[in-house]
Amino acid sequence: MNTNDKNIAIVGAGIGGLTLALALLQKGYKVNVYEQAHELKELGAGIQMAPNGTRILRHLGLEEALLQKGAVPAAGKEVRLWNTGQTWPLFDLGADSIRRFGTPYWMVHRGDLHSVLLSAVQALSAGAVHTNHRLVSIAQDASNVTMHFANGEVASAKFLIGADGVHSVVRNQLFDEHKSEFTGIVAWRGLAPMEELDETLKRNVGTNWIGPGGHCITYPVQGGKVLNFVGLVERNDWQKESWTDAGTTEECAADFPGWHPLIHSIIDKLDTPFRWALLKRAPLKRWTSGRVTLLGDACHPTLPFLAQGAIMALEDSIVLARCLETYGEDFAGAFARYEELRIPRTSAIVNGSSANISRFHNPILAEADKAAAYVTREWDPEQVRQRYDWLFEYDAVELAI
Ligand SMILES: Cc1cc2nc3c(=O)[nH]c(=O)nc-3n(C[C@H](O)[C@H](O)[C@H](O)COP(=O)(O)OP(=O)(O)OC[C@H]3O[C@@H](n4cnc5c(N)ncnc54)[C@H](O)[C@@H]3O)c2cc1C
Repeated sequence: MNTNDKNIAIVGAGIGGLTLALALLQKGYKVNVYEQAHELKELGAGIQMAPNGTRILRHLGLEEALLQKGAVPAAGKEVRLWNTGQTWPLFDLGADSIRRFGTPYWMVHRGDLHSVLLSAVQALSAGAVHTNHRLVSIAQDASNVTMHFANGEVASAKFLIGADGVHSVVRNQLFDEHKSEFTGIVAWRGLAPMEELDETLKRNVGTNWIGPGGHCITYPVQGGKVLNFVGLVERNDWQKESWTDAGTTEECAADFPGWHPLIHSIIDKLDTPFRWALLKRAPLKRWTSGRVTLLGDACHPTLPFLAQGAIMALEDSIVLARCLETYGEDFAGAFARYEELRIPRTSAIVNGSSANISRFHNPILAEADKAAAYVTREWDPEQVRQRYDWLFEYDAVELAI
């Protein structure tokens, strides 16, 4: 590949865009990342980083920086019943994760992950990320892709990767509308200072509180100083899909009537609860058109029921960077192989996440005596292995290209 062919544009400096930029810079490519935000801030709340994600972050050389920033190695996972708080210790995510998958399970703050990725990109190419560049349209010819931005600037590159998230402009320009369907579920998320919470919550475990018509996930982030809370509830009156819509703790609490006092004690201490409506979409059949392809939420937005959204963006990035390197000048071959490797897996995750809704929100959970049998059946160790091992075993770094 000649030097000019190594000039790649990435739209979106989110988790996927920055991971791809870093992977490509490490391979000697020239990369420009165009981001709509005026300033890159540490936004978001917690992300669960399963072994298939930590394997990639360690490969990229980010382990030390992430642990210093406060990534929390998980010890285990448990299920609790929404009203009584009855607890079922589920599985070891500490020593067991390393023994079985060769790499740990971390719980990280999205902002910390984002800032570590950004620093690593800027260390290799100080001017690679261009903020205040909201992409408006693209055009491509036989040798280039041209990008038009809302600030009036125009730029061109040999190839363009749309990593511009769930409402992707790049995707919308390439393909027909990616139709969405409201699931009837709204999610609250927020962070509570650990020192203000009950002692029993100060552990390095992830907890799934399951109930009829709702469930809550809690786990520590930022070195255990903060508890991440996500509360999902079935309601039909809020259908906005956004990462930045703030509500109040009172509104959040009102969505969890009858839930355990520990849940209400967490909600009470949330800094700002944000809410987003969960929309589901059928997987796309193609991601590429000519010199342009997609990655991350731009091509496979997913529900959070397998906790794999951000990790899929990491996997896409590594596989795409490896395809580009392996195929050299044959970019069409690289993009075709990337689709071939990634579309089946991400489609299975998108569909699997949708299928998980009823497991977490089953009406049977209203009755404590029936709930015990339900949990024992649904979270039987063999069932858990079937649901998760194929996710955690995937090795984007070593996969044959
Ligand atoms: C502000 C914010 C907060 C989030 N908080 C959480 C959270 O707490 N927990 C969680 O699990 N997930 C969160 N997510 C989503 C999560 O980061 C993604 O689901 C996942 O990491 C996939 O990454 P991605 O790179 O595909 O998308 P994202 O990480 O969403 O990145 C997309 C990027 O593209 C940029 N962009 C969009 N349109 C354009 C355009 N036209 N031109 C230029 N740039 C554009 C966006 O500003 C964003 O930086 C959040 C996303 C955002 C944007």
